[in-house]
Formats: sequence, C-alpha cells, structure tokens
Amino acid sequence: MAIYVLLGPPGGGKGTLAKLLRERFGYLHISTGDILREEVRRETPLGRQVRDCMGRGALVPDELVGAVVAARLAEDEIRRRGCFLDGFPRTLVQARLFERLLAEAGLALDRVILMATDDVDRLIKRLTGRRVCGQCRAVCNLVYSPPRQPGRCDHCGGPLEQRGDDTEPTARERLRVYAEQTEPLVRFYEERGLLLRLDAAREGLELLSEVSLALGLS
Ligand code: AMP
Repeated sequence: MAIYVLLGPPGGGKGTLAKLLRERFGYLHISTGDILREEVRRETPLGRQVRDCMGRGALVPDELVGAVVAARLAEDEIRRRGCFLDGFPRTLVQARLFERLLAEAGLALDRVILMATDDVDRLIKRLTGRRVCGQCRAVCNLVYSPPRQPGRCDHCGGPLEQRGDDTEPTARERLRVYAEQTEPLVRFYEERGLLLRLDAAREGLELLSEVSLALGLS
C-alpha cells in the first residue's frame, strides 16, 4: 500500500485532510504531533523530554521524532492500509533519515502533498480559533466551524480546549519555524518529482476529491 506525506504550514489543513482520507479510503493517519502530545499527556520519559520544545513552538530533536516514526514503519498495519504522514518530515535531516528508514523497512514514498498557502492571517485564525474536544478529540474552529453550543463539542458534548501552542505568539513562532526549517523540503521533493501542490485555501471536501483524483484513489 502507498505511503504519502502531507506537507504544509501549521493551520494549513493537513490533519483535516488526513482524517477525511482515513474515513473515505481507510489509510492510516500518522501525526507525529498527535503521537508526541499523547506522550506528554501520559508523562512518559519521551513526553517529559519534548514537552518544553512543543510548548515553545520549537521542533523536537530529529532523532527523537525519527525513532517515533521508525517504530510506526515497523508495524504491519502500514503495509496493509498504507498511510498519510502528517507533520513528518519537517527538516532536511528528517527527510534524509526518512529515506533511509523507508528503504530499511522495504517501503517507498509515493507522493508528497503540499498544502500551499501564503495567507498568514488565515493560518493564524485557523490556529488560534482551533478547539479540540477534551473527550473525543474532535476538532472545530471558533471562526470557521463554530460549535452549536459555546465551549461544547458538537459530537459528544465534551469540553472544548485550546492547545497550549495555539495561542497567537506561539502560533506565529511555529509559522516562523516552518518557513525556516520545513519549507526547504518543498524543493527537496520537487527535485525528486514527488510533489503534488494543492491550494490550502480550499475546503476539506473539495480538497479530498482533488487529492483522490490526482492520486488515483478509489
Ligand atoms: P503539529 O501537531 O504537527 O502542529 O506538531 C506540534 C508540535 O509537535 C510541533 O510544534 C513540534 O514541537 C512537535 N513536532 C511534531 N512533529 C515534529 C517533527 N516531525 N519534528 C520535530 N518536531 C515535531
């Protein structure tokens, strides 16, 4: 099964698209951010190592994220279902490490989907307006998809929470880090003929049909 990477700035809609792809086609959604947040929440040794970096909007060290991804690539489920990686790789070092890990696991990267946008105001609104249900983890946005009842999840009624790194100063720092450390990957994958560029301003379902068509998913 195919392996895809979703590339793009924080707030660009990678997670939303990955969720739709999982629901529609059964692909695994592997979000390094989600995995690391869960480690922080459970206060594991890894969680304690990465908590401060994540809180500041900085990237956690390449070797720690590399180990997380290597463990996932070893799982059989990836071979059965294929996956969309969301939030990895994020640096050139990680991209090269990823090539090595894939080769060692006997896997290959099929395409890299770039959620392209330079509308910083919209990205900031998407990040600072994002709320996550503390119970079922559903995501909504106070500006773009407001909950029916303030502070309550539309799906389960659970309490809506803001991620610690979605405050405006930290969101701006994450966008700065993206431009500095992750944007060079656009060229890296363009040179390898793997890049598919999408307009991140499009709505979720529109993006889903464009990706499905471009990748030949059915
Ligand atoms: P995300 O949920 O993708 O926005 O990631 C949230 C935070 O997790 C980032 O700001 C980083 O601190 C950390 N993180 C997630 N993925 C990576 C990665 N591939 N490399 C380094 N740090 C990461």
